Amino acid sequence: MGYRVTFNNSNRDFFNTLKSEVDAYFEKNGLKKTGNWRLYLKTAILLPSAIGLYLLLMLVDMPWLLTASLWVVFGLNMAAIGFNIMHDACHGSFSTRGWVNELFGLTNNFLGGNAFLWKLKHNIIHHTYTNVDGVDDDINNMPFLRQCATQPLKPVHRFQAIYMFFLYGFTSLFMFFMDYIKYFSKKVYTTPLKPMDAKEHVLFWTGKLFFIAFYIVMPILLVGWKWWLVGFILSQFTLGLTLAVVFQLAHVVEHAEFEAAGMDPVKIENEWAIHQVKTTANFAFSNRIITWFVGGLNYQIEHHLFPRISHIHYPALSRIVHDTCEKFGIQYLYFHSTRAAIASHVRFMHAMGRPAYLGR
Ligand SMILES: [Zn+2]
Repeated sequence: MGYRVTFNNSNRDFFNTLKSEVDAYFEKNGLKKTGNWRLYLKTAILLPSAIGLYLLLMLVDMPWLLTASLWVVFGLNMAAIGFNIMHDACHGSFSTRGWVNELFGLTNNFLGGNAFLWKLKHNIIHHTYTNVDGVDDDINNMPFLRQCATQPLKPVHRFQAIYMFFLYGFTSLFMFFMDYIKYFSKKVYTTPLKPMDAKEHVLFWTGKLFFIAFYIVMPILLVGWKWWLVGFILSQFTLGLTLAVVFQLAHVVEHAEFEAAGMDPVKIENEWAIHQVKTTANFAFSNRIITWFVGGLNYQIEHHLFPRISHIHYPALSRIVHDTCEKFGIQYLYFHSTRAAIASHVRFMHAMGRPAYLGR
């Protein structure tokens, strides 16, 4: 670990209470914490639909407007695979069988990423040191975006609430290239990688080659470079924008808290679980389409508290988590709609682009 960040875990009453209630829920209903038929049905829809769309776009001549629209749908389909299948599998919550999680976690590599690097960036760093400036790679977008008050303000940030959506569109391509930096520097932001074995090296390079072969070379050969360029930009921009917005709404909104790591060890005043709740937000519970599409990531508080429980169970757990937060007097940040959450993100980023935010 580049920086040392510790939590005040001397009093774990909140998490212990919460965990025993959540465990009681699973026991009472005779449920496994991993995915169930609803997750496997999603998988049976989302993977074949992506392959079908790809083949359609590669092999069938269609009117240009339909072709362009289907590239956007293909981008949304890839984002849904990321939220629903890859995310659960990489957290080990897709199935009780380790090899099934490993296998479906490889969808990360097919989207242009890398499961090994993602697990360190996301499962370890982001899920432990959420919104800790200097450690959490998800808020490491300087100098382009200032996402918390401890990051230095640049004149260009005055306009970040406008241009950020354009940058979000490049998220997946940015991750594709940043993986090489992580791979060769053997670090994710400030955290060193654990050594990669031969299998991980092979998976890294085959994933990157797969991306180049299936998203660049094959389309250029089959539909020509002009249509490839249109399709590539539309699908990657849709994918990147969707991934970025959903992740930003979880942590970079008004009333979410931030910490900063410096050269000295940082001690966070709360236990780990309270830190997770205070740095995370939920949105749009009543929108079933959003809940289905984003893989329950509108229930990020539940996800951050129980990342090894499949997202399929989050709506049921949200009542327990909400009531326990209330009992302990901990803020449970919730936006009633996606639009309200996006508006809060825009207001927050606008404020962050100005000299004085919350008196700093
Ligand atoms: Zn996660």
